Amino acid sequence: MIIQLEKTTSAEQKADIIAHVKDAKFKVTEVDTQRASYLVGIGKADVDLRTLGQLPGILDIHRVSDDYKLVSRKWRVRPTVLDLGDGVYIGEGQLSIAAGPCSIESEAQMEKIMDHLVENGVRLMRGGVFKPRSSPYSFRGLGMDGLKLFHQMARARGIKIVTEVMQVSQVEEMHDYVDVFQVGARNTQNFNLLDALGGVDKPVLIKRGISGTIEELLSSAEYVFSGGNEKLILCERGIRTFETASRNTLDLNAVPILKEKTHLPVVVDPSHGIGIREYVAPMALAGIMAGADGILYEAHEKPEEAASDGQQTLNFAESARLIQNMRKVYALRQELE
Ligand code: PEP
Ligand code: MN
Repeated sequence: MIIQLEKTTSAEQKADIIAHVKDAKFKVTEVDTQRASYLVGIGKADVDLRTLGQLPGILDIHRVSDDYKLVSRKWRVRPTVLDLGDGVYIGEGQLSIAAGPCSIESEAQMEKIMDHLVENGVRLMRGGVFKPRSSPYSFRGLGMDGLKLFHQMARARGIKIVTEVMQVSQVEEMHDYVDVFQVGARNTQNFNLLDALGGVDKPVLIKRGISGTIEELLSSAEYVFSGGNEKLILCERGIRTFETASRNTLDLNAVPILKEKTHLPVVVDPSHGIGIREYVAPMALAGIMAGADGILYEAHEKPEEAASDGQQTLNFAESARLIQNMRKVYALRQELE
């Protein structure tokens, strides 16, 4: 069960509620987030929520049978919309587009991409400074110096930054230079990292694990939420299957399923999802029709010269066309809804 406390609930009232929940044979976890205080009760006993809900200090009480609770739509019916400031939002009601290179490479590269984004009215830029690479000999990113420059240039242009954090020790040093922390597919079940991100007041975009189920993705989000951070975005980025014709199998089934199971925004990354430049655009459009709140894709002035993932990266002409088409398809979806 989930109990949301009133803003005014006193320590005595809270202790009394916890005692009642424990009496009903539920294990209680206290969760304090940027938005509210909750008690999450885990147990199977049959308890009369109407009686329990009468206790002073309770704003709302719900039974949630799923293993994940706070991210469940059974409890919070209204979709979560994240406010990144300066008029940038992520969540139902708008299409969020985040584009940029796989890796941040240089000031000149960032300038070109930012000009492209500004020209096309895109307010979010993706780009890694800490890169998880399958081979230790591949380019592994510019690190903190790259991030500081990325941040400075983005601020000057009203662009918000989405970038990957790979380990707990980076959370604090990156904090002031990031608008959205990205948890990569290889780290979706790095529970120490998820715990650490529970302690920050910045949105966290969690990619689906390479072999992760939808349920596991939701449980990863539950880690961050129960750690105190409600600002979450889920990202379908393709899973590993028996198929070898594409880099991954973009599981667009996950989009409507996630939208039904959680109140959190759901975005799609078609670049890593299919891994082949020519097919990124149709999969992005399909992701929007499947119900995604946003699309995250890789773009670069010269994809053939990109330090990483050039084979799945759009050039600016392809990217500009995709942006226009995504807006059209999103408008069509709204018309059909
Ligand atoms: C990326 O977004 O560049 C990235 C490495 O993604 P993923 O974790 O999905 O592989
Ligand atoms: Mn990449």
